[in-house]
Formats: sequence, structure tokens, C-alpha cells
Amino acid sequence: MPLTRETPLTGLPGVGPARAKKLEKLGLHTLGDTLEHLPQRYEDRRACCAIADAPEDRPCCISAVVAAQPRVSFVRRGLSLVKVRAVDGTGTVFITFFNQDYIREVMCTGQTYVFYGTVERQGNLFSMTNPVFEREGSSRFTGLIMPVYPLTAGISNNLLAGLTRRAVDECLDGLPEVLPARLRKAHQLCQIQYARKHIHYPASFEELAIARRRLVFEELFILTCGLAQLKDRRGQGSGRVLAGEPEAFTALLPFAPTGAQRRAMEDIAGDLRSGKVMNRLVQGDVGSGKTAVAAYGAWTAARNGVQCAMMAPTELLAEQHARTLERLLSPAGVRVALLTAAVKGREKKALLAALAAGEIDLLVGTHALFSEGVEYRELGLVIADEQHRFGVAQRSALAEKGGVVPPHVLVMSATPIPRTLALIVYGDLDVSVINELPPGRTPVKTVLVGENKRQSMYGFVRKQAAEGRQVYIVCPSVEENGGAGWEDAPGLDLKAVTAYARELSERVFPDLRVGFVHGRLKSREKEAVMSSFAGGGLDVLVSTTVIEVGVDVPNASLMIIENAERFGLSQLHQLRGRVGRGTHESWCVLVTSSRSETARERLKALCATNDGFEIAEKDFQLRGPGDLFGTRQHGLPQLKVADFAADMELLKEAQAAAEELIASDPELKKPSHRLLKRRVRELFEKHAELLN
Ligand code: ADP
Ligand code: MG
Repeated sequence: MPLTRETPLTGLPGVGPARAKKLEKLGLHTLGDTLEHLPQRYEDRRACCAIADAPEDRPCCISAVVAAQPRVSFVRRGLSLVKVRAVDGTGTVFITFFNQDYIREVMCTGQTYVFYGTVERQGNLFSMTNPVFEREGSSRFTGLIMPVYPLTAGISNNLLAGLTRRAVDECLDGLPEVLPARLRKAHQLCQIQYARKHIHYPASFEELAIARRRLVFEELFILTCGLAQLKDRRGQGSGRVLAGEPEAFTALLPFAPTGAQRRAMEDIAGDLRSGKVMNRLVQGDVGSGKTAVAAYGAWTAARNGVQCAMMAPTELLAEQHARTLERLLSPAGVRVALLTAAVKGREKKALLAALAAGEIDLLVGTHALFSEGVEYRELGLVIADEQHRFGVAQRSALAEKGGVVPPHVLVMSATPIPRTLALIVYGDLDVSVINELPPGRTPVKTVLVGENKRQSMYGFVRKQAAEGRQVYIVCPSVEENGGAGWEDAPGLDLKAVTAYARELSERVFPDLRVGFVHGRLKSREKEAVMSSFAGGGLDVLVSTTVIEVGVDVPNASLMIIENAERFGLSQLHQLRGRVGRGTHESWCVLVTSSRSETARERLKALCATNDGFEIAEKDFQLRGPGDLFGTRQHGLPQLKVADFAADMELLKEAQAAAEELIASDPELKKPSHRLLKRRVRELFEKHAELLN
């Protein structure tokens, strides 16, 4: 019977029921599945040498005749050796196989074999240990670029290679082509048959690159097509027309907005009066002044008689935003209220009633904003601050509170991710970038110190306090289950925040006012400490990363980060953004006792620049996208071939192509797009919860 892509693996030579089970673990059921099981790397086994000319430092193939019957010797229980003597015109090689007694049966004297391995040389004696071998002319495992697959226990690479070889040889005809011919031509992409064959068995690395490029493009193209469709559909939804001139709003600000803030407001103004639903991301480094931009949105909503809900990721931030926005907007008649889990009982009842009656214009809060029983009179705008803490699902849950006409959505993020990636992560959002800091900021000076500098560092804290400044001391907390950590250096002395705060306040700084916050405190306690710090009632605030996002205390001039190697670069950068917000010269001290050279290199990168985008780029290269946003929060589907960091250029290309295609055929209705449509749907079904 001819083999097809549907042929089950069970029953193929070498695959019994037990192995079939193991192959299933790799997701492989049919021969066709193996085509998509991609090599994780390749071994170049093409070079063939004479025995006497073989290099000593790397493997190669030699072609030699077995000169005598292989001999087996049993060294001890569990260890046997097969010794083979093989010759070519230039010399003799003595080959040893460990625990492979069967070789004595299969290897024939007088037969030529190709052996692949490293030839070692001692004087005129040549030897090899455990080489790969096969009869000359068979060329299955030698004389080629050998794919090396991800494996599972009980499945050898040779077995898998045998299967992919059959699939490539016999099942490529009629493989469906998802990329339209015109597109392949425009982007110089090979056909699917070529790609599938050469990703497994390239004759050269050039062929491999051609094959890989096509598969990467395909994967990214399907992803970006889906995203472009989402965006397109959103774009059609009609939204409330809200009018409000940024000029009129900026008169309320205690400062003149930067050019970048102005541009972001103009973008928002354009969206809000367009008659379509706004879905905009405002991306700006820490301290770039996103709150003022958000306030513009809230102000516009209020002026047009609709409500605005603003969600923050923590109660601390919600409280701070409520305070700031109240101060800023109440002179313009905007009624601001705060809803967090801490608002309860009669107070909550009154608040909800006022909200339903339309007596509140701006409601600031946490997830509580979209809990059961929260009814708006007319929700016109939803603002999410620091969106990467929210799932897309939560964002849309809140959007549903809008009733018949969906509310406009504005998302603020301080995670400075590479722009192209932002377009993927935030998929369906338009993006405004605030790439300019308010004037008069002195860049934060960052230094890396070891334990030996601890005492002088404490001296520096005291000096800052004496000058009236305030200090943050941040530590990764064991309690928080290592959320910050990525590199578990053994023997690391983690400072549990409470114990450390006590030590600091009682022994190190008995003369200073030391407070502490961590995630386990009740929100009321947290708020008490934070507002005390903000009001200048504390000199030193010891905390976990709860202060990471958004907290704004301009008088703070020094941040010390303990066990800095436990944090990602982007996270450190965000933390550091808590200082340098005023006019005072500011410092960030990274403390580490790590001796790892890579850890220190990473931290030094942070000392060298204050540019969040540059740091994100670096973090991204070093750690991939997952860690930029925290595990599984980035909303990116797992990719099979492509690598977001390495394939950035191709991502841009695929994205442009996808947007063009979706513009011409939004629902992928054309017959030539049928398969594409199915693949997009499959991908998005698998990641429904991520991609909304
Ligand atoms: P982030 O983008 O991190 O949310 P904030 O909105 O908290 O930044 O702003 C950081 C600080 O900068 C605040 O104290 C804010 O009042 C101030 N600020 C914002 N915009 C300007 C500006 N254009 N000129 C001067 N100060 C500004
Ligand atoms: Mg902010």
C-alpha cells in the first residue's frame, strides 16, 4: 500500500504499539505529522576524509573496509566492548563500540562502511569511539546534513529521521499550499513542498535557510492575518462621537505637556470624534507622563456626558490615580470616585447608586470595576493602566459594561517593548508612543555594587535622608514565590521583606523613619504606609515589587535594589523609574552578590543606559518575550518555527503583507484564501483565551 500523510505510524517498520504510544507523546500520530516535527538543530555530516587526514578536533565521515571479524569482550557486568578494525588506502582505524553487541552480527568483514565520528590519533594509531555507521551508499545517516529532533524517552533520533525521510520521500505530493502564489513571488518564498523537504533534509545550509524563511513567514503571516482581521472588525464598530479639544484640557494641567504627550492626545481626540470605536495603546517609558494623557480621555468623556472607568493593576495605584485625577479634574467639574475591594457595605452601596444615576463621571479602581453589580449609566470610555497586568479577556469584560454601544478603550503601558512586537502583543490596538520625557529630569545614575559596599551604601542612605530626600529599598520576597526571579543562584540570601525591614529600622537606621509594604498587607495598611511615604512622613520605604508600577513620589532620590540579579532588566528599569521624578539628582543602586559573569553583564547593561526601549530590546534578546511581560501574560501564541526576537525583520514583512491582504479580502472569502482562512481559525481557536 502506498504511504500517505494519513498513514498511521503504527505498523511502519520499527514502530510497534509501544513506540507508537511514545511517538504520540510528541504529538505524532500519522506520517504527515512527522513533517511538522521540526529539527531543533542539524549536524553537518557531509565532510568525508581519508583516515590519515581526518581532523582531530571535529567529527567527519570516513569510508573504510572492515578488515576482520568484530570481537566482543565483556569487561564486567553491564559493560561490553565491540572492537572493529577498518582500513582505507591511508591507514587503519580501531573502532570501539560500548554495549552494542549486535554490531558483531551485522557488520561483515570485507564490506565498506561509512563511519561518522571524531578520529583520534596517537602517533600512527587512529581510533574512533561509538561512531554512527552504515553501509557505503546507503546515505541515510552519513554524508548529509543530519536533522536532530526533539526526542522523548524510547525514541531515538535515527528512528525519527527514518520516519521523516519516508514522509519527505513519499508524501509531499499534493501538500496543500497556504500562501497564495502572488504572495510567494512578491516575498521570494519557496513552495511548501520544497520547504518541508529541506527543513528536514537540506543538501546545504543555503537550502535550509530558504526553507526556514518560508516556514517562518508562513507562521507569522497566519498569526498577523488573524490579528489584522480582529483589528479590521473592531474598526467597523461604530462608537460614540466624543468631542474635546486637547488645547482646552491642557489649560488644566500644572505644566505644559511635552510634544509627545500632545501628539498622543491628538491621536485620542481623532479616535474619539471618528465615529468608530477607539482601541488605542499609549506606550511610554516610566515617568513619561501617561497619566495626563489618560486624564485627557476622562475629561473628554465627562464633557460629553458619558462615564469613564479607569482600571489600575493594584489598589495602591488605583488610590494614587484617584487622588491625582481628582485634584486635576474636579476644578473642571468632573466627579471622581474610587472603587476597590476595600470599599464595602453602605459606602459601596451609595457609590454604586451614584454610578448608576450618572452622578459619577470617572470611576477609578481595580478589577472591582467590572465585578457583578457594578452598573454604569452610560460607560463611554474604558482606560486600562499598565495593561500587561490585565488579560485581554478582562479588558473586554469591562468593555461589555458599555451596553449597546461599545465604549472606547484606551490602554496605557510602560513596558517599552520593541514596536513591532507591541503590534503583535496588543494585536488589534492602534499605538501611540510617548518617546519623550518631561523637561528638567536628571537621568538616574545607576551603579552596581557587591556586599562589600553595604556599609557605605547605608551611609549614602543616611546622607540622602539628611538632605531631606527619601529612599526606596526593594527586595525580592520569598513570600511572593519568586515572581521576580529567573535565575535561581544557589545559596542566594533572599531578604524576606519583613525581617529585613525590621533589621533596617531597629539596627541599621534607628535614627530614621522606616516603613514597609508588601503584597500581603491589607490594602488599608498599604495605603497608610504609602501615603505616609508620599507625604514625607517616612525616610525609607522597604518594599517588594508592589511599588513597581506607577507610584509617584518626586522627592524620592535613591532606590536600592537587593538581589538585583533576580529581576528582569525591564522590571529593574521600571523600578528605577520610581526615582528621578523630581528635580533632585537621583540614584539607583543594584546590589548583587552573584558571581555569574552573565548576570553581571546584564546588570551592567542597565547601568549604561536609561533608554527603556534599548533595555527592552536587550532583555528580549537575552530572555525572549515571555519574561518581558511575566510568564504567560504576554498573549503571544507559542511559535513552532519562528522566533520573535531573531525573526523581527521577517515579522515586519509578514505583518505588512497580512494587513494588505486583509484590506483586500477582510473575511478571506476568495477561493485562493480558503486554506489560509482555516489555518487562521485553527490558530486562534487554540489561543482563544489569549487572543480574544
Ligand atoms: P507615567 O508615564 O510613568 O505614568 P506619570 O504620569 O506618573 O508618568 O508622570 C510622572 C511625573 O511627571 C508626574 O509627577 C507628573 O506630574 C509629571 N509630568 C507629567 N507630564 C509632565 C510635563 N509635561 N511636564 C512636567 N512634568 C510632567
Ligand atoms: Mg503611570
